[in-house]
Amino acid sequence: MTARHEAISDIAAHRVAKTQDYLEQAGADIYGQYVFHEEAQRQYLAKPIFRKLRRTIEGHEPFDRAIVDAVAHGVKEWALAHGATHYTHWFVPMTGSTAEKHDSFLTPIGDGQTITEFSGQNLVQGEPDASSFPSGGIRATFEARGYTAWDVTSPIFLQVEPNGVTLTIPTAFVSFTGEALDHKIPLLRSQEALGKHALRVLRWFGNSESKRVFTNIGPEQEYFLVDRRLAEHRPDLLLTGRTLFGAASPKGQELEDQYFGPIRERILAFMMDLDRELWRLGIPAKTRHNEVAPGQFEMAPVYEPTSVGSDHNMIVMSMMRRLAPQHGLMFLIHEKPFAGINGSGKHNNWSMSTDDGENLLDPGNDPHANAQFLAFLLAVIRAVNVHADILRASIADAGQDHRLGANEAPPAIMSVFLGSQLEDVIEQLEQGPASASKHGGDLELGATSLPVLPKDATDRNRTSPFAFTGNKFEFRAVGSSAPIYWPQTVLNTAVADSLAQLADALDGLEPSDFEGLTTILSGIVKENKQVLFGGNGYSEEWHAEAERRGLPNNRTTVDALPALESPKAKDLFSKFGVLSERELSARLEIYWERYVKVQNIEANCAVDIASTMILPATARYLGDLNKAPSSRGINAICERVTGLADALVDAIAALEQAQHKAHEAGSVQAEAGVFVKKVIPAQEALRTVADELETVVADDLWPLPKYRELLFQY
Ligand code: ADP
Ligand code: MG
Repeated sequence: MTARHEAISDIAAHRVAKTQDYLEQAGADIYGQYVFHEEAQRQYLAKPIFRKLRRTIEGHEPFDRAIVDAVAHGVKEWALAHGATHYTHWFVPMTGSTAEKHDSFLTPIGDGQTITEFSGQNLVQGEPDASSFPSGGIRATFEARGYTAWDVTSPIFLQVEPNGVTLTIPTAFVSFTGEALDHKIPLLRSQEALGKHALRVLRWFGNSESKRVFTNIGPEQEYFLVDRRLAEHRPDLLLTGRTLFGAASPKGQELEDQYFGPIRERILAFMMDLDRELWRLGIPAKTRHNEVAPGQFEMAPVYEPTSVGSDHNMIVMSMMRRLAPQHGLMFLIHEKPFAGINGSGKHNNWSMSTDDGENLLDPGNDPHANAQFLAFLLAVIRAVNVHADILRASIADAGQDHRLGANEAPPAIMSVFLGSQLEDVIEQLEQGPASASKHGGDLELGATSLPVLPKDATDRNRTSPFAFTGNKFEFRAVGSSAPIYWPQTVLNTAVADSLAQLADALDGLEPSDFEGLTTILSGIVKENKQVLFGGNGYSEEWHAEAERRGLPNNRTTVDALPALESPKAKDLFSKFGVLSERELSARLEIYWERYVKVQNIEANCAVDIASTMILPATARYLGDLNKAPSSRGINAICERVTGLADALVDAIAALEQAQHKAHEAGSVQAEAGVFVKKVIPAQEALRTVADELETVVADDLWPLPKYRELLFQY
């Protein structure tokens, strides 16, 4: 019996969900338990300190060093009361994962005695060794110094695990030379740029009250869960997060019965655990459901300000990863864990609002008459049109190359879906002032016992990468594993650019000159309407049509990344103070390196599995066949397997050779090019042979858990 078969029988024998006393830990009373939130701040800080801290958190006052010792003291008392022994600065370096280094509160005072200590300095600033994080050439290995700086806008929290509690301080990470080495700093800078120019536009519309404009984010997170006992026998899942081999399961997702289907007990136990832990961390987990592919699920939180929501999404992903093993599951966040069925994305719901609560993307009942809404809407449309190439680049990585444009996710062409109501208003506006808005009406269901439903003015479009959905945009092309800071940074910066241009134009216009405004807005429509698309984004015709319209269609990461080195990109990021040229090119360097490393790990792993698992299983099967009494059928199979075994050996050699070629390419960008042209096709060719073998070799000899098991046995 192979280890795979032992795992399968183990699952059959022990298919139970972990149970817990869920009513004891229901929602409201545990919410925010692990967060140093406003109430905890009030309790642990003196009144003047509390007030000053709140004003900084709410964006009304710059950071004041004078209060940090007092704040640190309160934070320490709160953390110790909750059992914390250590504290850590928590940040998101360019690895794309979070980073933390724990220090204990204990400080020896001699004589075998110790006190707990946590100073303002400990709270505000940390000094991790910057040389071991990717810097894209900004830091040489010997230039080690880097700093973390407390980000007051993101709440301090506790990581509570069965074996310890750690006080966790969200921070930004910079090099000794002051350059951003993380995802957070550019995001915060982009928020400020957008906020500044949005306010200028608002002032023209007569808003003198709002003090700040910021963006909100609600990321819908897709993921897979598979049984851990099976997954442990897939080195590809363990090392690359996706299956590099695997013949299609006889049954896939074609019955369409998984999406929103009943949630299995074991999965619900995981989801319940997840929600509870997230609530404790003040993360507003809201929605959970089965997704389209077997074994695929989704969670969505209520939206939050972008920097907090982006941190929270990192915590969501790591919490999923942490909790899944407790339920005997393995968490898969890769964009395409399985070939032939849907992969996972992250729909980033995004809007702009003022500090006094106005959603600037809320059309109201009659969008045609809502000039301010139209102005902000058009600013976003222009941003997507003018900066489509860098938006595409912001979501590019190796995992996404398996998903974008694969008829389950948006194409690699950036376009905006508005829906019929707004499309109509925008068409009117192109000619002059818009005079009417279409309305939804009622939906009669044909049975008197059912209510009449008010119908939205607009249908949805699930093939659009960037869709307007009522009072927000949904950037639907983001990858499931991506930290969302970078796509949000690029979007904010692109919109800041549009708003700045609009504000400049409005500067020359009397307030109340609505005719002048209409002319400006019509101009934006005329210049950018090619990015609007309401049809089927998956269709071939759209690819042809997009080409006619001159929209970029960068299918792979290697096609997409160069947009970040264009003069347009450099100007944009430096003009708005988001990234200097050096910071931008460092980031690009990191993306290239990451792409090549990921592809190379996959190729190594494929060679390893094919050579040491698939080939031996094939040889064993050939041995069995050779022992079987000769017959026409057996001889034919023997011949087929022998041929496939030869093909497998050749394909392994070809893949290794392609990798070798890639390594000799010179620059990392050239290497990436060879990966696309040579290595990936060689790896696919190897997979084709291996997957065919899977359908021929005796099941009891096959070492890798099969798709039918991974997708359905949990
Ligand atoms: P939809 O069904 O339109 O996608 P949902 O209510 O399911 O909308 O919300 C999806 C995500 O969008 C959730 O995370 C939700 O909190 C978020 N969301 C709703 N309104 C906004 C908004 N104004 N800005 C940003 N995100 C929002
Ligand atoms: Mg949605």
